[in-house]
Amino acid sequence: MTRTAQVVVIGGGQAGLAAGYHLRRQGVDFVILDAQTTPGGAWQHTWDSLRLFSPAAYSSLPGRLMPPQTGETYPDAQHVVEYLADYEKRYELPLQRGIRVEAIHRDGPLLRVQTDSGAWHARAVISATGNWSRPFLPAVPGRSVFTGRQLHTVDYRCPADFAGQHVIVVGGGNSAAQIATDLTLDDHVNVTWVTQRPPHFLPDDIDGRALFDVATARRRALDAGRDDTGGVASLGDIVALPPVRKARDAGLLQASPMFDRMDRDGVVWADGTRAEADAVIWCTGFRPALSHLAPLQLRGTRGHIATEGTRAIGEPRLHLLGYGDWTGPASATLIGVGRPARDAARQITALFADN
Ligand code: FAD
Repeated sequence: MTRTAQVVVIGGGQAGLAAGYHLRRQGVDFVILDAQTTPGGAWQHTWDSLRLFSPAAYSSLPGRLMPPQTGETYPDAQHVVEYLADYEKRYELPLQRGIRVEAIHRDGPLLRVQTDSGAWHARAVISATGNWSRPFLPAVPGRSVFTGRQLHTVDYRCPADFAGQHVIVVGGGNSAAQIATDLTLDDHVNVTWVTQRPPHFLPDDIDGRALFDVATARRRALDAGRDDTGGVASLGDIVALPPVRKARDAGLLQASPMFDRMDRDGVVWADGTRAEADAVIWCTGFRPALSHLAPLQLRGTRGHIATEGTRAIGEPRLHLLGYGDWTGPASATLIGVGRPARDAARQITALFADN
């Protein structure tokens, strides 16, 4: 049996919920399909000590401020999961869980959304599937012969899993800095942090709020046809959250340059220096989870789909929400996804009015 909705939203993380909030305000009939059986999107799977890089109020979806977490300026991931669970309940968002979307096909005036438990027909689709399910590991010579453990950011939980071991953490962003900090503050783990270029910390008094302001200024400049003011990268890569600052100031966060290759027992730098390791944690980013869109044949450079705002240029009934700056400045953040979600809902309503 094929069911119908005016709009199918794929993904029930923060981006899917923000889309639902604005679709509801537009009076559109919609459903949100999510592969997971519990609320919270990717936040359910992060490491134990993860802290947001902005205070609660600056990590809010449209309509409802995130309440502060008692005793914490920067909330943890469980707090975000609870906020998202409350959010979907409060706005009675029509979520259907445990349903994986496998493919989207054009079907005359409609889009056919094929799932692992039946199909939907929709006049428009918002894809909000995030990046978490597509960890990226770089091609490094010898990576396949290394006999130790290799993990990605998505696999890391806590230092106790590495007691008595030498761990190499690879990456120059927030995930790498936070995981290296977590491990290095534990006396039972020996850590080497490796970055492609020297780590670039934001000034200590700057957190995610400033990143959002920069992204907003950039969006305004681009909207007004002015020169690109530069993205958040111009400020620095790493938010110096209190634990990161503590580890850095204690001299525990000294980064080594990227190694050249790996062998059975560890890593080897260009000058022949080597380090044995029990585990390598690759904090090397993600790619967008877009395989369900493959039948639409929209893939462009770097695995992205060409968009104007959130709308796919090659398929105006499709919007992409939350994957990164390419689908709206700061759209892959809690506070940043609201505006592109609103724009997507408005554009979809306008599309329906025209047809
Ligand atoms: P997700 O949370 O990944 O949700 C996508 C949902 O879609 C999931 O539930 C998934 O199961 C589902 N899905 C995927 N594929 C399918 C399919 N085919 N069919 C059906 N369902 C599917 N942002 C901030 O604002 N502040 C921070 O401090 C911050 N810290 C971060 C720290 C880390 C380590 C990372 C990785 C990100 C951080 N972010 C932060 C960025 C951002 O908020 C998250 O990446 C966020 O989880 C993205 O939300 P999303 O809804 O786009 O994707």
